[in-house]
This record gives sequence, C-alpha cells and structure tokens, in this order.
Amino acid sequence: MKTIQYNQKSIPVLDECDVLVVGGGTSGMVVALSALEENKSVIILEKGILLGGTSTRGLVHPFMRTHVGTGKLTKKLNEEYLKYSPYCRYNGGPYALSFNCDDWADFYEEKIKAAGGKVYYDATFLDVIMENNTIKYAIAYIRNEFYAIKAKTYVDTSAEAVVCRVANVPIDFNGENGMHQSCSLRFEMANVNASRLCDFLRSINYGGFGIPEDPNRIEFVRDNSLIPYFEKAINDKVIVPADVKYIQGFSSPGKPNVMGFNCPELPNIKDINSPEGFSYYVSEGRQMVRRFSRFLINYIPGFENAYVGKIADMLGIRESVRIVGDYIISEEDYKNRATFEDGIAKADWYVDVHKDAENTEEELQKYTIGEYYEVPYRSLISKHCNNLIVGGRHLSCSFRVEASVRIQATLRDIAEVIGKACAYSIDKNVDLNKIDGKIFKCK
Ligand SMILES: Cc1cc2nc3c(=O)[nH]c(=O)nc-3n(C[C@H](O)[C@H](O)[C@H](O)COP(=O)(O)OP(=O)(O)OC[C@H]3O[C@@H](n4cnc5c(N)ncnc54)[C@H](O)[C@@H]3O)c2cc1C
Repeated sequence: MKTIQYNQKSIPVLDECDVLVVGGGTSGMVVALSALEENKSVIILEKGILLGGTSTRGLVHPFMRTHVGTGKLTKKLNEEYLKYSPYCRYNGGPYALSFNCDDWADFYEEKIKAAGGKVYYDATFLDVIMENNTIKYAIAYIRNEFYAIKAKTYVDTSAEAVVCRVANVPIDFNGENGMHQSCSLRFEMANVNASRLCDFLRSINYGGFGIPEDPNRIEFVRDNSLIPYFEKAINDKVIVPADVKYIQGFSSPGKPNVMGFNCPELPNIKDINSPEGFSYYVSEGRQMVRRFSRFLINYIPGFENAYVGKIADMLGIRESVRIVGDYIISEEDYKNRATFEDGIAKADWYVDVHKDAENTEEELQKYTIGEYYEVPYRSLISKHCNNLIVGGRHLSCSFRVEASVRIQATLRDIAEVIGKACAYSIDKNVDLNKIDGKIFKCK
C-alpha cells in the first residue's frame, strides 16, 4: 500500500475515490446515494457502527414535515423505504416520514452497497493535508490506526464541521450570546400498554395533541392535566422540575408497545463545544432518563410494566457550530421569504429554537402552507477551501435560521444537490467553491 508522511509518521493511503463523505448521518447518506447515481465512486467515513447519525444513533424521528420539498431522489427513497418498512408512514406529504430508527440504517446501508458505495465504520476523520487551499488527503483513525484517503471532492456531513475546522474554513462556535440550543438525550420505553395509557389520558381530560383512535399512534406531551402527577413525583423526590419541563413521546412505527421520547431536554448551562460541557450533558442526560422513566412507571397508568428499552448512543445536539461560508442565511432572509439565483432547496419549518429564553419574532412568525425561503448554494461553500462542501445542520446560517433549516427533510434535499455538485465539479473540472449554484436552482 502506498504511504505518505503525516506528522512525522509514514501512514498508508487506504483508498481513493471521487467523493469522500465524512459522516454517514442524515445528510451523508443522501449525499452518497446522489453521487452514486451520478456514477461517481463514493466512500463514507462514519465514526459509529451504524449509518443515520442523529436519525438513528440519536433516535430522532419522525421527519418534521415540509410542504415545499424539492428532491427527486429523496422522494424516491422515501417511497422505496415505505415498501421496505411497511409499518412506517408519511408524516404529511412525500418528503417527510415517520420511520423506524432501526431499519432506517439497514435500508441505507443496503442501498449504498448495492450502488457500489463503500462505508468504513469506526472511522473517525481527524485532519487534512492541504496544498494551495485544496485538500489532497483526509486523515482518519480507523480501527486504531491512522490512514490517509485521497478524493477529488470532500463533503463535510459531520454536523460538527470537523473537516472545515482543519481546512481553514471560519467557524462560528458561539451560538447566540454564548448560548446554544438545548440538547436532548432521546430514549425508548418498551412494553408500554398504549390502550391503558389512552384510557388514563381520557380520564384526566388530557388536552395534549388529542388521543388517537389507534393507540399505536399516540403522542404524549406535557399538558396541564399532568401537572398534579408531576407535582406529586417532585414532592416524592422521584424527579426534579427540569425532568418534566419539556415532554414529548410518540409511538415508534413497526415497534408495537414502544414509545420514543424526544426528551429529557437538558438545562442549558454548559458550552456544548467544550469537552467538559459535552460530557456533562451525556452524564446528566442519562440520570434524567433514569428519573423520568421511574416517574412514568410509578405514576402514569400504561407504563407500569414498561422499561427503558434503549438510550440513544449519540447526544441529541440541535446546534453547536456553523460554518461562515460564502453566504450566511440571516433572520432577515427568513422573514423576507428570500429567494436566490443559486437557491438549491426550499425550507419552510419555523424557527424552532430550544433555548431557555423568550420566543422572538421569528420564532412566532410561522409560514403558511406554500411559503418558503431558499437555501443558496453559497451557504455550503467557502472561498477558503476549493474542493470541500458542507451538508448538514452546520451550514452557513444564523443561529436562529439553523433552528429552521436543520429539519431532516430539508437537509436531505440539500444533500441531494451536493451529490450532484460533486459530480459536476469532477466532470467539468471546476472547483466546488467556484461552481455557479444557478445550475442547481430548485424549482
Ligand atoms: C433532540 C433532537 C430532536 C430533533 N427532532 C427532530 C424532529 O423531530 N424532526 C426533524 O426533522 N428533525 C429533528 N431534529 C433535527 C435533525 O434531526 C438534525 O438536524 C439532523 O438529523 C442533523 O443531520 P446532519 O446530517 O447534520 O447530522 P447527523 O445526522 O448528526 O450526522 C452526522 C454524522 O457524522 C458522524 N461524524 C461526526 N464526526 C465524525 C468524524 N470525526 N468522523 C467520522 N464521522 C463523524 C456522526 O457519527 C454522524 O453519523 C432534532 C434534532 C435533535 C438533536
């Protein structure tokens, strides 16, 4: 195997490809399939042992709905997935799904392998070797060894801008006034008696999202009717108020008697980007899951025989860093429903900031059906690195716009264009950051 010098060591060049996708998560999987459709060779580096990132390792489902989806591939993948996993369903239109976090990863791995793509697991991207603002090699730590991988184009779909950080792309680490959006550690309760839970909720005049006919489609949220139960458990020292400040649980498609919880939401007191802050949130999140699950089991009928079936192996990070790219999508753009000559995808989710603060004007100003703003190609690239593009929640936008653009359906539409842009860059011999994004204008 060819070797190169890295940090005074000789390390093997493990592989070469057209498109190196760093992070096999929500966006990375779609980038890979899109580039494979364009007949490009693709390698994914994934530090976990499962594709899907936040949507699988983080147990984050369903897709929030969009009324303005644009991708052809993303729509086709959704249709195919519903055949693969028949218990799953659309969540309001062909671009949003209520899916099963377990077989979602398998579906994608099968698709990527069938299309000739390659995935390295336990493969943590670390660094790049650059020449004249162009990445020559990516350096990764795979199965306890350093390797180099050579690609024509590099895609940072890590959600944490791991490639951008070392490729001279400026990064905004600061959130808003030093505060980031709240993290959650998602988990699943198994062996829930959903019919009994529905009967109980009816008996207390629960006013949450309504009680469905089909108990396997339940959504259980914080509601005033539950407050006496919280208060009793707080008095009994089973939970603390923060454990029940935000509650959202719903049935998991294809997993009878399992409910996934989009909580606990962690009190926002540390910097998620610091080693100490991250570890604090993981550890505190697990404690909150323990307390909240004990509350459910002991205080809420329907959960008496339930147990914690799974805790996400990835902290649910809504926002941590964003690149400062060639264009930063601003709150004004959100308010003005901005369109761009190089608008490559449409977004319509509201500014869903999870943060201990008052709602702002943008948060309250939700779009009506059919309204949208566009995501310009320039928000994915930087003049500082020629053959690099960003897909995922760390694209170049303001703190508040991130809280809108980060929903899975929108990121997937963006990812589809990124696969095509990589192919275009290679075929036309034009750097990713010199492409005129008009070519990919969304319709
Ligand atoms: C708690 C929570 C609830 C949410 N709820 C919803 C919801 O209900 N509906 C919705 O549509 N959206 C929701 N979102 C938003 C949405 O899920 C995320 O914004 C989106 O999934 C992020 O996708 P991504 O592609 O940016 O990153 P990810 O899906 O997180 O993928 C990043 C991947 O990169 C990998 N990686 C990272 N670093 C490295 C490295 N150094 N080397 C190799 N691999 C690496 C990771 O392991 C991961 O697989 C929620 C988010 C959170 C956190």
